[in-house]
Amino acid sequence: MKIDISRYKQIVVLTGAGVSAASGIRTYRGKDGVWQEYDVQVYGHVDRLEDNPKKIWQLFGQLRDQLKTAKPNIAHYTLAALEQNLRPDQQFTLITQNVDGLHQQAGSANVIELHGTIRKTRCANPDCDLAPVDDDNAHTEEAPRCPSCGGVLRPDIVLFGEQIPALPSWQSKKALRECDLFLSIGTSGVVSPASNFVRSAQYVGARTIYVNLDPMLPRNPAFQEEYLGRAEELLPALFSV
Ligand SMILES: [Zn+2]
Repeated sequence: MKIDISRYKQIVVLTGAGVSAASGIRTYRGKDGVWQEYDVQVYGHVDRLEDNPKKIWQLFGQLRDQLKTAKPNIAHYTLAALEQNLRPDQQFTLITQNVDGLHQQAGSANVIELHGTIRKTRCANPDCDLAPVDDDNAHTEEAPRCPSCGGVLRPDIVLFGEQIPALPSWQSKKALRECDLFLSIGTSGVVSPASNFVRSAQYVGARTIYVNLDPMLPRNPAFQEEYLGRAEELLPALFSV
């Protein structure tokens, strides 16, 4: 059941919350997920930036605080090692839904962050010229204000009610166009983006692999292979790095 990475030229991996679970990062969906405890409409929706940004920071500021001590786990390190050990004619693209930055911390270089990064803060005003800045302040007491325009500052992540930004969306499609190996790891295989990505990969003839704790319900036929278990256990076994 091992995957011989040397046989592939364009490897695309999509990761979700299951990859960061062993690093102590709480998942959002599922029975112990954040959204079971916090109302999405109050703490996670883009409309709150206008009327109650403090709630957004109360929730996502906690995640920032977690990241001060969280470390990448063997799943992150396995994916980073794959990329570092490629031949010059091979390409590796890591597309992640996670906003925790742990892939980069583990050493992954070609990372597309579909949902942005919790490690940066930016202005909520689209007309403002303030660039996103690295920020480890949790701002849980008060929503910070933009030094340039006076508007509300926000974590640089995609909130509910927002689209995936054009650049990471385009970069992902570009990588999938020529991929010959596609893995979806630690995320549901039946909802977007995994469901569309695997169809794109299947369309261009890639080998398609699903790795997750939970099985697909219903099973997505675009995945040829399915491995069920924890990412930090399955990935070292699948790739023997
Ligand atoms: Zn501003």
